[in-house]
Amino acid sequence: PWNDPKAVPFLQVKNVTKKFGTFTAVSDVSLDVYKGEIFCLLGGSGCGKSTLLRMLSGFEDVTSGQIIIDGQDQAGVAPYARQTNMMFQSYALFPHMTVEKNIAYGLKRDGLPRDEVAVRVSEMISLVQLDKFANRKPHQLSGGQQQRVALARSLVKKPKLLMLDEPLGALDKKLREETQFELMEIQENLGVTFVVVTHDQEEAMTLSSRIGVMTDGQIVQTGTPHEIYEYPANRFVADFIGSVNIFEGRIVEDEVDYVVVQSRETNTDIFVAHGVSGTVGQKVAIAVRPEKMTISKDPLPDMRNVIKGTIAEVAYMGNRSVYQVQLESGKRVRVAHPNRTRRGAHTLTWEDEVYVGWAGQAGVVVSQ
Ligand code: ATP
Repeated sequence: PWNDPKAVPFLQVKNVTKKFGTFTAVSDVSLDVYKGEIFCLLGGSGCGKSTLLRMLSGFEDVTSGQIIIDGQDQAGVAPYARQTNMMFQSYALFPHMTVEKNIAYGLKRDGLPRDEVAVRVSEMISLVQLDKFANRKPHQLSGGQQQRVALARSLVKKPKLLMLDEPLGALDKKLREETQFELMEIQENLGVTFVVVTHDQEEAMTLSSRIGVMTDGQIVQTGTPHEIYEYPANRFVADFIGSVNIFEGRIVEDEVDYVVVQSRETNTDIFVAHGVSGTVGQKVAIAVRPEKMTISKDPLPDMRNVIKGTIAEVAYMGNRSVYQVQLESGKRVRVAHPNRTRRGAHTLTWEDEVYVGWAGQAGVVVSQ
């Protein structure tokens, strides 16, 4: 829907700023979220993502700007009166109540008839697959199960928009990866729109329809995971999402579909045929992902860019090996090479002289 110019965003954030005294935690943020999306606010600690989320839920006032949900300006609308709900990082479950009572709490407080509460709670319990645990208390559950109770509790009131602050932050890596897909399935089944805060870039890549990358209170890029990874708007985004090699240089040739960049870091000109923009003489940075590079002891005649170097470090990661290669200029680049066979990783080793190559399409020009 974000590609459809006629689509109306369900959530609109317009030039929102939040100041705490003289400190600006969120600075002139604008974004649109469409129905059915999982939109992730991704950024490092202190970038303002939780503050933005709290303003969307109404737990924090905006200093200036406007938040519109389903066509209605939210100025002065209390959290409970919004079509939103929030799932906190701490889960905030009631320790003395069973799973069932925790989930039913909000509905009972709203005065819903007892049989309707029972039906909705049991639907939710099966949706998050906690049927066997309905009568347990939170301390009798694993972290992953507690997470599902918190999710059920925040969804049972059928909010149109759910804010999730680090929803999987308390789970270990393996469980987090499994739970990501569960969360996506539940979200899809219910058709709820999610706004998720996370500092974990892999989590954002997995979950999101789109990501807003935040730093210093600002959103520096909004896009699908693919757009953000393949066409990072600037160096910060390129670095923050995945790992990347950056070459600094100056454009020496500018053609319709490629540019040539001279860089002291490579001793040879770099050819870029992707995400190209610029004029001759302009200083640019070129980003090349480690997995888009090839490494070999033999020259790489088919590659547009080839540089000689020496392997300085090797990390065996199972499915791939990651090489630190020292170039003749002294710069080190990181190359990831898939280990498709058992021998794969063992053909190259420390101090080997190698060629590192990448296609013209592999690099992207990013602003410094
Ligand atoms: P984290 O991932 O560490 O939670 P975050 O991106 O969610 O980080 P926020 O909690 O939004 O960051 O905080 C953004 C900035 O605003 C921080 O520098 C924080 O110290 C500051 N801040 C947040 N709440 C307040 C407050 N009530 N008073 C003053 N400063 C605040």
